[in-house]
Amino acid sequence: MTGSTAASFTADDYRARMERAARTAAEAGLAGLLVAPGPDLVWLTGYTPPAVTERLTLLVLAAGQDPVLVVPALEAPDAQKAAGAPALTLRDWTDGKDPYAATAALLDASGRFGISDNAWALHLLALQQAVPGSSYTSLTEALPMLRAVKDAAELELMTAAGAAADATFEKIRNVPFAGRREAEVAADLDRLLRRYGHEQVDFTIVASGPNGANPHHEAGDRVIERGDMVVLDFGGLKDGYGSDTSRTVHVGEPTDEERRVHDTVREAQEAGFRAVRPGAACQDVDRAARAVIADAGYGEYFIHRTGHGIGVTTHEPPYMIEGEERPLVPGMCFSVEPGIYLPGRFGVRIEDIVTVTEDGGRRLNTTSRELVIVE
Ligand code: ZN
Ligand code: ZN
Ligand code: ZN
Repeated sequence: MTGSTAASFTADDYRARMERAARTAAEAGLAGLLVAPGPDLVWLTGYTPPAVTERLTLLVLAAGQDPVLVVPALEAPDAQKAAGAPALTLRDWTDGKDPYAATAALLDASGRFGISDNAWALHLLALQQAVPGSSYTSLTEALPMLRAVKDAAELELMTAAGAAADATFEKIRNVPFAGRREAEVAADLDRLLRRYGHEQVDFTIVASGPNGANPHHEAGDRVIERGDMVVLDFGGLKDGYGSDTSRTVHVGEPTDEERRVHDTVREAQEAGFRAVRPGAACQDVDRAARAVIADAGYGEYFIHRTGHGIGVTTHEPPYMIEGEERPLVPGMCFSVEPGIYLPGRFGVRIEDIVTVTEDGGRRLNTTSRELVIVE
């Protein structure tokens, strides 16, 4: 999370986002949205508090009402500097005063509100007490698609983040792997992502040999050996927008089986990508990728969903998963990342961020998806 998106968007952009959010909430039967510091607040206002503490900071959005940011008085000067501040009314409160009573005065006393998933229970419990007739639901569950469709300026930032991740891969494929610990290669990935403009690195997975069979393996002390498959999966935020890409490399010459598994994942990734078009369901992307892996006999070894949305965070709705019937809409950005995980042996995952266009999908990661041999 960073304030650096401030340069990219104006108060008018944030005003439009807040109006749309309030309208969408009303359409969903909500009296309003209560937005805590985090990705929703950044996206709606450009504001990131200097530190998240027990002091209440909360954006109150309701259709037909001016957006109000309840903010501790000592942080009000920071809030004033946010790019979205001109579109907001700031309601500051000083220590010793009750911020929940002040917030309650802004709320429909019997309303149902969508509240940020990451809001502290401390704040929600106090609000429930201050407004006994109110009720609450998860903002993400109520409005899962709020941030899903990116506008042209956001797509430019997503494209740049993808290019920075690709530049990182082009460098990392040329560093030595054999004889080094996973953690050392992971440190290289972190340094490269930052060199190419990331202000935040969310993950640098280096999963070698048998560790590759665990999709959640990060990076550890294992020394990479010749003959290892190595899953690389890395990303973070560049100028406030996310990157996330995976490539699987092999140290030295692979076996026929390793090639076959890698080819299968590459074909599955291609099939998932080709399923992307406006109007297709999210689950169609998952089904297309999964069918290739199942046909090759590895169905039971593809143990996660095919993809997730990405934007001001690196994991968010929409999810490319069986049962998700929402349609793809131009401007959505998400990963297509099938994998095969053979316990005790090795894993393969290939991941690109894809955006939906009128004509189909466009990849935001364009490095080779062929099996890359490293030293
Ligand atoms: Zn091998
Ligand atoms: Zn990833
Ligand atoms: Zn991903």
